[in-house]
Amino acid sequence: MPLTDYAVRCTTRECPREASFKVASQWSDGLTAELKTYALCCYECVPARFAEAQGKQAACSLSPGETLAPPEVFALTSHGPQRVADPADSV
Ligand SMILES: [Zn+2]
Repeated sequence: MPLTDYAVRCTTRECPREASFKVASQWSDGLTAELKTYALCCYECVPARFAEAQGKQAACSLSPGETLAPPEVFALTSHGPQRVADPADSV
């Protein structure tokens, strides 16, 4: 199956750039774990979206047994999201 190149638009309102990062938290209910995505955004929008995600993560009410890690920044790559310590490293 050929890899299709598709552009994901930054989710910031009125931002015309392509999303190359994902802001997400590792969520788990003890049985399954998944990435809870807050935003897909371009490099310029990472700081704003990340701050927003931190607020959402803090405000998130969890059921007993559920865990939600602090938000992290992931670079969108053809191999899937890769965690990045500093978005500036992956541009
Ligand atoms: Zn943007």
